[in-house]
Amino acid sequence: MSVAPIPPEFINELLARSDIVQVIDARVPLRKKGKNYLACCPFHTEKTPSFTVTPEKQFYYCFGCAAGGNVLSFLMEYEQLNFLEAVNQLAEQYGIAVPQNAQQQEFYKVSSSLYSVLEEVAQFYEKKLRDDASAIDYLKQRGISGEIAKRFHLGYAPAAWDTLLKKFKNSEDLLASGLLVEKSDRQGFYDRFRDRILFPIRDRRGRVIGFGGRVLTQQEPKYLNSPETTLFHKGKELYGLYETCQVNRQPDRIIVVEGYMDVVSLFQHGITQAVATLGTATTPDHAELLFRNSADVYFCFDGDKAGRAAAWKAVESIIPRMRDGRQAFFLFLPD
Ligand code: ZN
Repeated sequence: MSVAPIPPEFINELLARSDIVQVIDARVPLRKKGKNYLACCPFHTEKTPSFTVTPEKQFYYCFGCAAGGNVLSFLMEYEQLNFLEAVNQLAEQYGIAVPQNAQQQEFYKVSSSLYSVLEEVAQFYEKKLRDDASAIDYLKQRGISGEIAKRFHLGYAPAAWDTLLKKFKNSEDLLASGLLVEKSDRQGFYDRFRDRILFPIRDRRGRVIGFGGRVLTQQEPKYLNSPETTLFHKGKELYGLYETCQVNRQPDRIIVVEGYMDVVSLFQHGITQAVATLGTATTPDHAELLFRNSADVYFCFDGDKAGRAAAWKAVESIIPRMRDGRQAFFLFLPD
């Protein structure tokens, strides 16, 4: 029986979704030191720790015996596994199905090309923001500095129906990324985001998976998000989590606010641990993601009827995820 090789795109995805600190710490208890983690090396005998794990690069390295690599090489060496066994074990731990046939493998190839398209589009929109005086003015009025706009890679989608179509030739990938909408007569496409400030939504690895768009004027709808795509599942992602973890991998607390602009404004005021759901109520998946990153989660809502309803939804989602050491707080802003 021949087994199809595992596509490199799947390995990348697996590495993106796993956490080397978590995997190693479960086997060799780690101590935090600055940005890195330390332990006595499991691969040679020593009394003072020279085994370091760097979460930023998702690598480990021992200054004593020069053992080093990524999470898969660690599993292979520590658990005495071959590559395929290590892949299977890691995938199982993170609940990711290893592709078994050509069709499933194709999925990972497609995803990988969508990531590149989304990144290119994000950079393009970011450049458009720099060229648009009214979009810059809008952000300034909201008290957002250039530095914060840059940190979040805020962008601007010009007020035209075909900006992306003209710039990027591959309409198939744009459509699959949720950036184009098919016309109702099915005779072509148009840009989903027009005349909006765009907030690129990143996954834990910092890859763009979708966008949130906000109008500059009083138009409706005020917020518009990417639709569900192969890469973007709004019930599982949190805006600002990547940026929060960039500042501090294990924040003391995370504050959940209602909109993208609230997250960016909090960062602007030095509160660098804020996230927002993506136009949806808090789901149990969100709750799990929040608690995995911080033991204390603060939900901050408007004091009005909608705010209280959203808070109740959040309560329903977090209760099943509560356990010893996890705390949730609710904060209501004056009506
Ligand atoms: Zn060593």
